[in-house]
Amino acid sequence: MAHVLLKKKLLAKITAVIRNFWWAGVQEEDASQPLHLRAWEDICRDKAQGGLGIKRIDLVNKSLLIKMAWSIASYQDPYLSAILKAKYYPSNSFWTAPLHTPRSIFWASILKIKNYLHEHSFYQIAKGNTNIWSQPWVASWNNMHDRLQDNAPRTSIPNIVSDLWIQHTKHWDTQKIELFFGPQSVQEVTKIQIINHHHDDYLCWDTSITGTCTAKEAYLMLANQNPAPINNQGSRSLPQPILHILNIIWRNSLLQPRLKTFTWRLLRQALATGQRAGRFSQHIDEKCACCGNLETDNHLFFSCHFARAVWFAGTPSIRTDLLPQGPQGVQQEVSSLITPTTSMQEIQRLITTMWFLWKARNDLRFNKKEWKVSHVLHAVKADIHISHTITQELQNQPSAPTQPQNTAPPHNNTLPPFPGTRCYVDAAITPDAQRSNQDKLALEF
Ligand SMILES: [Zn+2]
Repeated sequence: MAHVLLKKKLLAKITAVIRNFWWAGVQEEDASQPLHLRAWEDICRDKAQGGLGIKRIDLVNKSLLIKMAWSIASYQDPYLSAILKAKYYPSNSFWTAPLHTPRSIFWASILKIKNYLHEHSFYQIAKGNTNIWSQPWVASWNNMHDRLQDNAPRTSIPNIVSDLWIQHTKHWDTQKIELFFGPQSVQEVTKIQIINHHHDDYLCWDTSITGTCTAKEAYLMLANQNPAPINNQGSRSLPQPILHILNIIWRNSLLQPRLKTFTWRLLRQALATGQRAGRFSQHIDEKCACCGNLETDNHLFFSCHFARAVWFAGTPSIRTDLLPQGPQGVQQEVSSLITPTTSMQEIQRLITTMWFLWKARNDLRFNKKEWKVSHVLHAVKADIHISHTITQELQNQPSAPTQPQNTAPPHNNTLPPFPGTRCYVDAAITPDAQRSNQDKLALEF
């Protein structure tokens, strides 16, 4: 995943496995296709945008490769960078490596995603030792050859960035820049900030605050490149109050993950109620197993006589027949129950009650097991009690002793021992202690 750009077909298969698992859990090999009641695109959105924050596998694959390409370009692993340079671009830089040479699948994958590195990385100038012709130090760096002026003296062509500075200073020599690259370049180059340090110029990732490219930063860049607009029509709509409630739910530490995911499915209209699931198959009964009315979200959780009895018997008691009804269905009713002033404990009670109404419905529909109102109320009480006990135990646990810092041995650029099967692609290894370090290099792909 981190070393090979996977084919779209394979990525689609992996995504299908993840989707099926999310909707139906572990399945038998010959199990029927589960219902997918919400677009995968909506599920993969960030939680702040109404999704579940599940990562898209194709973007994960690309982001890991971008991170790998970044490591090569910034010499984080000098051995790896040195071997690849010797093999694929001995006379060029990583940035100007030729594209059409025989190559391993690893290097081919790096070349395919290198355009992202071109778009989002640049050298922060400090010492001025960046090569003018082959490293991204200015937006138009790869056109510098075309900009070279006809009347420029061929005997003193600048090679590194500091050659364009006034001697013994860190100030741009505008006359020299214009002489070699024309007036257009002067404007562009003099905008570049120079750091007043003596260390080497270093590579920066432009979408990261720290300037370092990580797989996470690369993923965020890819995910934000072409964000699909949030659909405000039909069942995929996400009104602002519902988005607000979802954000409250994710932050509520009293709710267990299963209750949070359940609430997401309820509010994103992705629960397999009779009416919703019945659209996909005539074998699915659209009617409520309790009373025979059409089983909508609204009916199941608030209008059915069983649900009304549960809410009425709860503490505090709620008359669900008095809740506002509207075209948004269950979203509207939940919005009227959970407001910005509702306490976390009350939200926990409301969500847990809905969860057990759902459990009672499933037991009746699939197991012919009937729940009583008191049974639901006891289950809600017990679940909240267990949740509180677990939360308190977690809070009372002594915190792990702080690890003394800087205990890790310094990185000496040597590779760890590697028993077992390895796949060597661009270099080989002989575990012979008598040989030189160069011979002992291995690329772990
Ligand atoms: Zn009913």
